[in-house]
Amino acid sequence: MRKAIGVDLGGTKINVLLVNEKGEVISRDKQPTESEKGRDYVIQKIKSMINKVLVDANLKINDIEGIGVGFPGIMDREKKTTLYAPNLGEEWKREVNLGKELENDFKVPVFLENDVNLVAWAEWLVGAGRGTKTMISVAIGTGIGSGIVLNGKLWIGAHGMAGEFGHTTVIPDGPICGCGNKGCIEAIASGSGIERYAKSILPDHKDSLIWDLVNGDLDKVTVRVIYQAAERGDMLAIDIFNRAGYYLGIALANYVHIIDPEKIVVGGGVANVRDYIGKPMRDEFYKRVLPSLRDKISFAWAELGEDAGGIGAALLVLYR
Ligand SMILES: [Zn+2]
Repeated sequence: MRKAIGVDLGGTKINVLLVNEKGEVISRDKQPTESEKGRDYVIQKIKSMINKVLVDANLKINDIEGIGVGFPGIMDREKKTTLYAPNLGEEWKREVNLGKELENDFKVPVFLENDVNLVAWAEWLVGAGRGTKTMISVAIGTGIGSGIVLNGKLWIGAHGMAGEFGHTTVIPDGPICGCGNKGCIEAIASGSGIERYAKSILPDHKDSLIWDLVNGDLDKVTVRVIYQAAERGDMLAIDIFNRAGYYLGIALANYVHIIDPEKIVVGGGVANVRDYIGKPMRDEFYKRVLPSLRDKISFAWAELGEDAGGIGAALLVLYR
């Protein structure tokens, strides 16, 4: 069976997976990124992790077809360099010759891709999107990312920037987003957006259980704490999540009217609060989507969890 290695290079951890053509993980290694130790340290660590997953699977580099690398940032796919990946540290704000360096070392083809695109690719091939031709995947975490599979191909756009769903405007004069714009869905419904909103309204809701859970310290308000309060029936906590779901539904209706997918796959850390976000999201989405599409588009929760990026990176080598 054909095999490849997928590297998911994130700001906090690196996940390296040896994957077969069915998307099954044969061996794995996960390490903290430790980006503060510098770019060369991180690249060296990736190389030793690749060697480790090969040894653990009792394979040699010639037994695999190549290496896929996903990371949060933008790249030159032809030159196989990363151009801007601020989550990985200062040195990654300029061009890094990551792909060629791995190719020179391992003598197999190396491909770079945006991590969120790879999540979409993995979910489409072997996860919640299998069987569809056109699908969008949305990952709600600290930020909001998205990938598009269009007619069986990963759609990267004319400039490699497709799927920037997180920067869909939903409140024209809303909170400032990391991109500099106002009222992007990422600024409202991501983990950090939800936390910011909660902190802004809590002073007017002294009776909320959230205050007890953080011992009166606003800085300790996290999605996790709001979730705990919601689970105990706190109406403010439930409203905070419902509001995020409501705006997600609006943004997704806009998205679907342009792409016309068969399925929307939703994942990411914040999606764990699916009970409180999922229902208002779907309700608002179906309220706004055109009647002729209403019963044709389905939602699914992502299936591949934290391995999605690594599996997608490996499958990018095997299916292109
Ligand atoms: Zn934005």
